[in-house]
Amino acid sequence: MKKENLSTRDKKYLWHPLTQHKLGKPQLPITKAKGAILFDEEGNEYIDGIASWYTVMYGHSNDYITSAMTKQMQKLDFVMFSGLTHEPAIELSEKLMAILPDNQAKLFFNDNGSTAIEAAIKMSLQYFHNNGEKRDTLIAFEDGFHGDTFGAMSASGLSSYNGPFEDFLLKVIRIPTPQEDNIEEVKSRLSQILAENKCAAFVFEPLVQGAAGMKFHSAEGLDALVGLCQEYEVLCVADEIMTGFGKTGKNFASDNLTNKPDIICLSKALTAGMFPLSITSCTQKIYDRFLSDEVHKGFFHAHTFSAHPLGCAAALAGIELLNSPKIIERRNYIENAHVSFANNIQNHKRVKEVRVMGAILAIDLEIKMERYGSLRDELYNFFLERGVLLRPLGNTIYTLPPYIITDVQLQKIYEAITEALDTF
Ligand SMILES: *Cc1c(COP(=O)(O)O)cnc(C)c1O
Repeated sequence: MKKENLSTRDKKYLWHPLTQHKLGKPQLPITKAKGAILFDEEGNEYIDGIASWYTVMYGHSNDYITSAMTKQMQKLDFVMFSGLTHEPAIELSEKLMAILPDNQAKLFFNDNGSTAIEAAIKMSLQYFHNNGEKRDTLIAFEDGFHGDTFGAMSASGLSSYNGPFEDFLLKVIRIPTPQEDNIEEVKSRLSQILAENKCAAFVFEPLVQGAAGMKFHSAEGLDALVGLCQEYEVLCVADEIMTGFGKTGKNFASDNLTNKPDIICLSKALTAGMFPLSITSCTQKIYDRFLSDEVHKGFFHAHTFSAHPLGCAAALAGIELLNSPKIIERRNYIENAHVSFANNIQNHKRVKEVRVMGAILAIDLEIKMERYGSLRDELYNFFLERGVLLRPLGNTIYTLPPYIITDVQLQKIYEAITEALDTF
């Protein structure tokens, strides 16, 4: 008897994230992935135009990374990270400290983006608690996204994710992102919040808000906001889960700030998409606040798979690639290609705004109101039919391809986008 195809078997027991199973098409089974290409059951090819949620920046099934992981798993698979330590974690801490902003001094391991944020928030609250101070308020941007656990969700401002849980969230005050024309306004609003509340932390996506539709804000403005918070000893948490590892041009978006964040959260491209792992890094001052003869002043927070050696091995190989001459050449190539494409389409009647930062290209569409509801799904299917995987956000089409994407593959993405502009 012929085995049922994967789509049919998938439907029987599986529940997918961010999916309304009553609506929409079945999930597309992927059987193989190499470089920038995904293959389905029938052998159809799709260019992964968003690097599988901006993780696999050095390409799928990258030989260099998979062989580093294979070697690691044959030598030391996994041990607990409380009471024990291992070389992959130690070496990763050394390599990361060499590229993170200078004020970062200690790394705490978690296992995904949301838990990195969760640790950052708990670290901030306990930082004041250990000093006998009660600070109960967080500051965050409107429309930010920081993950789906409760603390991370509290900091997030996208109501489509948070609706049912709003009554159960932490206390957060939101401010608009700083744009060219509102910096003074946002600064004075923040000053007022800082003066009137007991704020513990300011959590933000530096320079680019990913899930909000790759929205950009002013580096200078953010720098000023971080500076203001730091005057009140409010801990500034940069969520670099999306922006980290070269996406915005520099290694980290925080490299554009002179006031460095006190805490930085990393995940996604940290392990080149090969393994769920995340890091919450912090300053020496924060770490020191947890040192005490009283045991309970330590940070009693752990995930079973903290600092998994396989994730560390993937991360080490990834960091080596990040600033290798070949990848730097590709990073520059992609940015230049994005800029010329953006120039070509900026006057298209469907283009409301087009923006480029590093490997990120985002296009806001001018669309007829009646199309709005279904547009995202229609665009998603339109691109798949043309062999390109893109996941538009609202009326924003974006691409953030793996750095190793070839010139021809990148052109195919642009062609599909141009065709979409002419069609929708
Ligand atoms: C993806 C993402 C998260 C959440 O990470 P998960 O691993 O999905 O929990 C948090 N913040 C930003 C900016 C992200 O892009």
